[in-house]
Amino acid sequence: MGFSFLILMLTIATAVASSIDNQIYLLMPHSGSSGHKHSDLNCLSWRLAVETDNLQHWTTVPEACIDYVGHYMLGKQYRQDCDFVAAEAYNYAKGLNLTGDGKDIWVFDIDETTLSNLPYYASDNVAFGAKPYNSTAFNKWVNEATAPAIPASLKLYKKLIKLGIKIVFLTGTRETVREPRAKNLKAVGYTEWEKLILKDNNFHDNSVVYKSGKRKELEEAGYRIRGNMGDQWSDLIGSNPGDRTFKLPDPMYYVG
Ligand SMILES: [Mg+2]
Repeated sequence: MGFSFLILMLTIATAVASSIDNQIYLLMPHSGSSGHKHSDLNCLSWRLAVETDNLQHWTTVPEACIDYVGHYMLGKQYRQDCDFVAAEAYNYAKGLNLTGDGKDIWVFDIDETTLSNLPYYASDNVAFGAKPYNSTAFNKWVNEATAPAIPASLKLYKKLIKLGIKIVFLTGTRETVREPRAKNLKAVGYTEWEKLILKDNNFHDNSVVYKSGKRKELEEAGYRIRGNMGDQWSDLIGSNPGDRTFKLPDPMYYVG
């Protein structure tokens, strides 16, 4: 009697445990890292921490997440995440009260915002950001001026111009690459702009200081920054951020 009771209790306990396992299993995401085994690191959690700026000053994508980041960037999810941000930006922009005096502007960052460096980042030498940043190799790529447009941003760019908003490109790449950058932008469809601002060769402060300063100059010149879009938090924080900011995804590198 006692033994049978013990067996019954064990059976019930096992059934309860397995039912809890099933419930937990159902809660697991069916995309992202759930299909991959990582020792300790959950790459979806890592990416979320990156996108929310909870993780700062990281230098390379963790080795364990190279495949994860690669799949994300080359797959549908990245494109759809960009589409979502751009659609929301347009929803906001079309509701603006525009004056038509040519002073309403939209600030776009360039790298991973309007142009995509994925062909460069997908190479074995870069491994989606898992290899340390190599300025020589990256500058060579920038000078080739062959980066494709990010489709969602190009579509948004054209719609903003139709609304009467002027475009300002504000990038941390240097004045020395003005010509290839302009050539690249035009080649993929960004054919007009109010200003193309590149970083002075002698400027060595961080990105937040640099971009805040340039946005301040724009506002002092009478421009109204109605929207500001970038892939880095350093594009969007600091002073004079604009009326609204829009963050595009970028799990490949961090610019502080
Ligand atoms: Mg960028």
